[in-house]
Amino acid sequence: MRLSWRLSSRSEDRFETWIAQRHQERVLTGETTAVGPCPDQAFLRDLARRSKRITLSDPRVDHAASCPECMKRLLAFRNVDRSRRRKLTAAAAFAACLLVAAVFVSVTEYRAPRKQSAANAAVASVTVDLFDAGTIRGEQPGALQSVLLPASVVKVTVILPRFSPAGQYAVAVTQDQNGNGVVAQGGAAATSNGDHVTVSVELDLRKAKAGAYFLATIHEQDQASYYYPLRIK
Ligand SMILES: [Zn+2]
Repeated sequence: MRLSWRLSSRSEDRFETWIAQRHQERVLTGETTAVGPCPDQAFLRDLARRSKRITLSDPRVDHAASCPECMKRLLAFRNVDRSRRRKLTAAAAFAACLLVAAVFVSVTEYRAPRKQSAANAAVASVTVDLFDAGTIRGEQPGALQSVLLPASVVKVTVILPRFSPAGQYAVAVTQDQNGNGVVAQGGAAATSNGDHVTVSVELDLRKAKAGAYFLATIHEQDQASYYYPLRIK
């Protein structure tokens, strides 16, 4: 129902446009006779813009509709008006794009630092110094003070015992000193800084219960593993 109404309305528009074009052609080729003098430019400009100031009963409207000179000016005014409207539309669209871009940028700028600070707040950094811990394989370093880690995501930097070789290491939190009951583990390549060799891994201890554990460092190449007492608070 609505669709057919639209179609008939559109075909009416086309019909009216066709009549207007036929009329324009007749006027421009001098087939019509205009009555009275030509109105001034201001009146023609208002007429071209369909200004509300103009009443159709005005005799100047009849003149302009049948005078070839006035018709040419009317068409010229209408073209100027149309290009001005197109420019305004383009400018408005461009301004809308700028606004969308500005909102997008401010939203992403607003979000990014929040995300970053949340991530930073969640990760605790702990350095475990084992430089002077025993270096005999399998030996339990009894005198070593136990390492304390929070039950959160922890970036653990282990300063490996003296004379530790470079290479890839695994660092784990285990429930005993035979490597059973792994609570969390991570792997990384050791970096050498002077005579200190360190390895940094991120361990997720959020699900670990508070208590006694072991911190294991395992050199992946020769599988040498060391266990140090650890407490999770
Ligand atoms: Zn005229």
